[in-house]
Amino acid sequence: MTCQEAHNALAGRLQTFGSQEPWDALEQHLEDCPDCEHRLRQTESIRRLLRECCIRLRAPQALRARIADALPHRAA
Ligand SMILES: [Zn+2]
Repeated sequence: MTCQEAHNALAGRLQTFGSQEPWDALEQHLEDCPDCEHRLRQTESIRRLLRECCIRLRAPQALRARIADALPHRAA
């Protein structure tokens, strides 16, 4: 996987809340590439912000459940 492919995968992951991206290949790349790992951290912060906003704004329960389902459970 190239850095460009990794960036694309991260962008897709953010937009789709991480559904079907080639995550294994991406993680492999991140082990060797600090730049992309840094970008992943930024992506995860944005995802966390989005999630916290949803909670703070008291999104409807059904919407919150759909978002929570879409998020990877490994996210802290
Ligand atoms: Zn890279």
